[in-house]
Amino acid sequence: MTIQEARANIEEFLRYLVAADVLSSEGAGRASHALASTTHPLDTVLTELGLLREDELASHLTVFLKLPGPGDFADLDQALINSAGLQFCEDNAIIPLALEPDTLLLATCDPFSGGVIDALAFHFDRTPTLRIATRSQITGQFKMLQLPAEAGGDDRIGEFDGEATAHDIDRLRDIAREAPVVRLVTRVINEAVERGATDIHVEPQEDNVRIRIRFDGMLTPVETAPRSLHAGIVTRIKIMAQLNIAERRIPQDGRMRVVVRGQNIDLRVSVVPSVHGEAIVLRILDRSRVKLELAALGFDQQARDRLSAWSHAANGILLITGPTGSGKTTTLYSLLKERNSTDTKIFTVEDPIEYRLAGVTQLQVEPAIDLDFATALRSVLRQDPDVILVGEIRDRETAEIAIRAALTGHLVLSTLHTNSAAGAFTRLTDIGIDSYLLGATIRGVIGQRLLRRTCPQCKGRSAKPAASPAQAACPSCRNTGYSGRVVAYEMLPVTEKTAALINSGAREEDIHAAARQEGMLSLLDHARGLVRDGVTTEAEVRRVIELGEA
Ligand SMILES: [Zn+2]
Repeated sequence: MTIQEARANIEEFLRYLVAADVLSSEGAGRASHALASTTHPLDTVLTELGLLREDELASHLTVFLKLPGPGDFADLDQALINSAGLQFCEDNAIIPLALEPDTLLLATCDPFSGGVIDALAFHFDRTPTLRIATRSQITGQFKMLQLPAEAGGDDRIGEFDGEATAHDIDRLRDIAREAPVVRLVTRVINEAVERGATDIHVEPQEDNVRIRIRFDGMLTPVETAPRSLHAGIVTRIKIMAQLNIAERRIPQDGRMRVVVRGQNIDLRVSVVPSVHGEAIVLRILDRSRVKLELAALGFDQQARDRLSAWSHAANGILLITGPTGSGKTTTLYSLLKERNSTDTKIFTVEDPIEYRLAGVTQLQVEPAIDLDFATALRSVLRQDPDVILVGEIRDRETAEIAIRAALTGHLVLSTLHTNSAAGAFTRLTDIGIDSYLLGATIRGVIGQRLLRRTCPQCKGRSAKPAASPAQAACPSCRNTGYSGRVVAYEMLPVTEKTAALINSGAREEDIHAAARQEGMLSLLDHARGLVRDGVTTEAEVRRVIELGEA
């Protein structure tokens, strides 16, 4: 429902109220004027102007819209509300009541608030059906969701070890709902998403809680919260991720979905106990702002031509290697996007699903229900695929299925956690694959890293300490001297010569040397070229490649 449609519906409803003698035309005029000049919803306007009681309004809305009445809220589905975002629901006085196969049942006091209803319909991918309730009924339900507070304001939970009692859990829930905690968590998540961060770190320290975000690969402090908020912050995040708030001694993993500026954002949550209490890392899985284009990532024309040939092959395996955070997944998806068309059936098996691609069937690995990479891959192979993306090859079973798929006429794209392209072959033999299978199936390996780009505005000059504050500010790079990242890569094609070495089980160094003899530019040489071209810096190459993760 657009704003115009919502307005038209409200006007029609006001005329109905006048016709039914519930409202005078003068009252309808005042309501209409107030609605046009403020952002208050219909029910607030009518009750605040003293034109109608909210229970009267609810029953007239029910008749006008031919909807079922309030009924009771016997079993609120807390998980459903958490999924929609408790704060979002509370702020908009709307409750998702039930998720049916095709429909989503919502309780609302403002059926004309199209945007909110549409957002929830979109979030759950269902057609909305409405049940009218009064605002008091709805806010009453949200109050019920928070358990009654204990007396005694200073009776807070700082640290407590051991088994949590029901009483402790109630107190945890309470402090997780306090305004400063809710605001802090919301503010940090919003800021991180808006700045394009990949991770949020909540780190309890002796006297405070440090919150840092990672973007462009670097951690930056964004907040320091008082130690007293720690339990509240942790519990708030756990509730959002549907984790066990009573458990504080073992690590927990979960997921949550939040709405930032009307966009659904998925987050993966990891909670780990530390000396100073539980530490949390939130991985932001929204990558809608990342361009899945090989050129934008930094692959030059020659590299793109080769990648295009590889990704259009009918069968075989393409591997992308690098440590965590080297941009492997982004390259993987960009390759897949090149290949995606209406005549190609593409499946992905991932953990987690980081990008959603139209026209591609994506499977999330769920070890908790025994759906691991190998099991998921086996079922995908029964679905007549042309191309299969496997998020990562971590074990022998997955590697074996990938090789079998490549040998039976499928193209498999995947990643491996190795330092060099040549390392892919030795890693696969290390996990138990016969080397002679590799030369025949693997078409090529890309080894890559991400380097921060020199800021184009200040050419990196802001990174140096400024002589005076006036010289300092470069809004484009926030005085880091860098803005965005570029990929440094090496591309190892499996040729007759390298295949012979690979099949004989040669060492990583020998495969690398042979590939270089055949013209491969090494990762380090490519990176040095980027320094010469002023795209990145010597310091960055040292940090990421020479001193990078071993
Ligand atoms: Zn700059």
